[in-house]
Amino acid sequence: MDINKELLQEARKCVKCGSCLSVCPVYKELCEESYSPRGRAALAEELGQERQDLTSKLIEIFTKCIGCASCEAVCTKDVPITKIVYEIRELLYEKKHFDIALHTVAKLMYKSPYIFTLILKNAALLEPLLFEEIKGLDLLKPRRSLPFLSKSRFLPKVKSKFFLDHDFGEPTTSKRHISLFTGCVFNFIQPSIAHDSLSILKRIGKDVNVCSEQMCCCLPALGIGDMHGLKKVVMKNIQVLDGARPEKIVVLCSSCSLMLKKYYPMIFEDESSRVREKVMKFADKVVDYAAYLREHPDELDSTYKLQEKQTVTYHTPCHLSKGLNKSDVIKDIFTGKRNLEIVELEEPEACCGFGGIFNYKFSELSLKILDRKVNDIIGSDAKTVLTSCSGCIMQIREGLLRRDTDVEVLHISEFIMRNKR
Ligand code: SF4
Ligand code: SF4
Repeated sequence: MDINKELLQEARKCVKCGSCLSVCPVYKELCEESYSPRGRAALAEELGQERQDLTSKLIEIFTKCIGCASCEAVCTKDVPITKIVYEIRELLYEKKHFDIALHTVAKLMYKSPYIFTLILKNAALLEPLLFEEIKGLDLLKPRRSLPFLSKSRFLPKVKSKFFLDHDFGEPTTSKRHISLFTGCVFNFIQPSIAHDSLSILKRIGKDVNVCSEQMCCCLPALGIGDMHGLKKVVMKNIQVLDGARPEKIVVLCSSCSLMLKKYYPMIFEDESSRVREKVMKFADKVVDYAAYLREHPDELDSTYKLQEKQTVTYHTPCHLSKGLNKSDVIKDIFTGKRNLEIVELEEPEACCGFGGIFNYKFSELSLKILDRKVNDIIGSDAKTVLTSCSGCIMQIREGLLRRDTDVEVLHISEFIMRNKR
């Protein structure tokens, strides 16, 4: 298999120490060496040396990775496991080894947003026939098993009015404005969280532009290996978000943040220096929303006040903690707030098992990983979980619903706005 030679050199840096085994959520469930991070590094090398055929088992091994980056956070040899996995997925994509249904949905999402949104809005008309709505949780329960979804799973509810349908008025002309990137889930499924977040940015004194032409961050495209198809969309996002020369590009969802900040430059590594420079300049301006709030403690403090004592816990999304190396952001934002007690989970950074397409393709495995997270939350006795990633919110809400608890999962913006001054 024609794997990038430099990447194979990186894979060879693995000294088989095993430090990554205890943090890989997939390995912890499957307990099979080939599904571990070091197993994937070794198999990539075997494939590169043509000592292994591309069997269906190997395809599954490279598809069954959440992309959580937990392995990279502990690896002392800096083996870029996720980069290796994405490289192999690109090769699998070129050889047409993919799940047609899931790939079609993902491609519609990032390549044909107008058709995708049209389908979503029309599909909403069929919703009452096929699903029962779980009020207040943005989740739908299938009335019967569907070709793409078992009766035991839940599906996120798509809203009739998207966040980006809103009229945001004339763009600001302020030189120090910020540009807001929402991401698909906050746009289609959780627009109220996007509105809350926009309000908070304004309340802390920021001039914000929201450009309705922004597209999917393209993390699903990276996940399926469509490296070629995503480049045009990425360039469009760069043009739309950076066109008015904002001071910062603030990204609402942690997974989108990782994509814009870290993976955009990675995707264009082999392009001309002019293109690379443009992408790097863009990525330098990108900042995760939660990390941005942490940078403005006094302004944020003046926007909300807890009238009564509340106890919360928090879940740090993998892409924020391990991907962007910002582990304590959520905790830092709320530490020391009057009337707020924060109880720690045993493993606040442990993966919730979402992983976008992974969650639907490997539903059973995803639920097992989720179970560990839910056990940790229930064991903490907190009644509120705060987090900042759209995917984690949907996943953990489903996990808690399956266990019939009254614990709620809130985005940090929902919590702040609920207690606004
Ligand atoms: S932690 Fe790094 S070096 Fe150690 S086994 Fe895992 S991938 Fe290899
Ligand atoms: S990215 Fe996550 S799921 Fe994939 S190998 Fe690393 S720890 Fe395991």
